[in-house]
Amino acid sequence: MKQSTFNPEQQRTDISSKIVAGLERLSEVFKIMLWEKAKLVGLSPIQIQILVFIAFHKRNLCNISHLAKEFNVTKPTISDAVRVLDNKGFIIKDYSSSDNRSYTILLSDLGHEMVSKIDDFSNPLKTQIDGFSKPELQSLFATLSQLIYKLNQNGILTVQRTCFGCKFYEINDEKNYCNLLRKELLSEHIRIDCPEYEEKPVAGTI
Ligand code: SF4
Repeated sequence: MKQSTFNPEQQRTDISSKIVAGLERLSEVFKIMLWEKAKLVGLSPIQIQILVFIAFHKRNLCNISHLAKEFNVTKPTISDAVRVLDNKGFIIKDYSSSDNRSYTILLSDLGHEMVSKIDDFSNPLKTQIDGFSKPELQSLFATLSQLIYKLNQNGILTVQRTCFGCKFYEINDEKNYCNLLRKELLSEHIRIDCPEYEEKPVAGTI
């Protein structure tokens, strides 16, 4: 038998292979949901992702460089998408930062209106997830948050904002603890996209 995660024979006896194959299926779900919404509103999937991202994140993350990292595409790809969004009046470029060659991308009033039409693009998935029991959701989330952190540590996921990689996180008496909020974090309180996240310094750099 040819060894491969995608060989159904291997998946018969190896649950990790089945999980990877399952995650590949799930990655298709986002493409499908984004395309469905894109067709309705006349934007591309990446344009939708950019608008939704800037609606819910701090200004310091809303620039070409960060968006390229966030969505794992090139800066020219983001610049092209931003140019179209600008031409359609959905965003405003703010050049007021100290580096006047770069700009922060802000939503215009029209952009806010558009976001209210598109930020539900993932509802078909959310509806299915809502159907799981609380213990199932807690178990799924615990595994998911650890997997995201490990993929980031391996350099596969360039961006993550989970507690496990945050400088304010520590394990205190075998419990998750946030030094910023000064409270214990139950597994379900671990953040996956925390606005207060600050990257933990790599050991030996301080
Ligand atoms: S600041 Fe946010 S990401 Fe960091 S440990 Fe606290 S809750 Fe987690």
